[in-house]
Amino acid sequence: MTEKQYGGNTGRASGNNSTKSKSMNPAIPSKSSHPKSVSLTTPKKSGRTNKEKILEAGRIASEAVKYAKTIIKKDHLLLDIAEKIEAKIIELGGKPAFPVNLSINEIAAHYTPSYDDKKTAHGLIKVDLGVHIEGWVADTAFSLDLENNLENKKLIQASEKALEEAMKIVNSKIPLKKIGEVIQKNIESYGFSPIINLCGHSMEQYYLHSGITIPNFDNSKIIPLGEGLRAIEPFATNGVGKIKDSKPSDIYMITEDKTPRSPIAREVLDFIAEEYQTLPFCSRWIVKKLGLKSLIGLKQLEENGNLHRFAQLVEESGAKVSQAEHTLFVEKDNVTIITK
Ligand code: MN
Ligand code: MN
Repeated sequence: MTEKQYGGNTGRASGNNSTKSKSMNPAIPSKSSHPKSVSLTTPKKSGRTNKEKILEAGRIASEAVKYAKTIIKKDHLLLDIAEKIEAKIIELGGKPAFPVNLSINEIAAHYTPSYDDKKTAHGLIKVDLGVHIEGWVADTAFSLDLENNLENKKLIQASEKALEEAMKIVNSKIPLKKIGEVIQKNIESYGFSPIINLCGHSMEQYYLHSGITIPNFDNSKIIPLGEGLRAIEPFATNGVGKIKDSKPSDIYMITEDKTPRSPIAREVLDFIAEEYQTLPFCSRWIVKKLGLKSLIGLKQLEENGNLHRFAQLVEESGAKVSQAEHTLFVEKDNVTIITK
């Protein structure tokens, strides 16, 4: 998934309102009490280090991408495509870190099929998928042209080239603006614009967006990229280069664990807290586990302020958008592209 900038609600408490994120439910890791320097190389009881889990999540994500490319065909149901990809991730030994996003044409991000979705694949489709192992996330995306359309193909080339060139210059000390500058320059060389209010992001255990944003244009920020998990995700468009919130998506995330009054809402919240913790999930998954009645519980949780419901993100001028994304594990003197 992607991170929206400029005061938009990403669902993650950051900075001034971060005290709100303190969790009372032991199943929900509290951001404020989350250790800043989790050791990534010391073996845990399970015998696997966090770094090994990160690399494994990356391997599974790249296998899932290969699989997705073989099954996505024009006119196939988005619902079937999403469920097959998510099943593949589980078969390979991971868990989906968020619902598979299948966003078409001017929808830049955050569309996942509903449980009864009838929409079919077409146009310029972005496939954004995530894998986690015990909360360690690999986030990756690619775009496909299902129309044999020259402009779609050029848009895809532009975001892929921008990602490739950005990854060549990445290290822990590089200023964020430098990454944005390379992305912008490469996308503009195709005659397109980067989407300036979508960006890459840092990740921590069970947190998809953990504070650092990686721009898709030169934003003059000279602070360094730093160490840890970093997703870089250029978006290219033939439109104005900005997105706005559109209709509500079917993607949600826990933001508050205050106890709801309704028993159905409590049942749904307990399931989410146990199964997804602070990672995004979708109504499809809830219906599958708890039945159609759970949709009422989900609505009550939204009204009770327990959940953030993501909006579909649409290009402001209605133009087509392509995306490419990889997750990098950045160490002091080494960078590993874990989803390659
Ligand atoms: Mn991302
Ligand atoms: Mn993503």
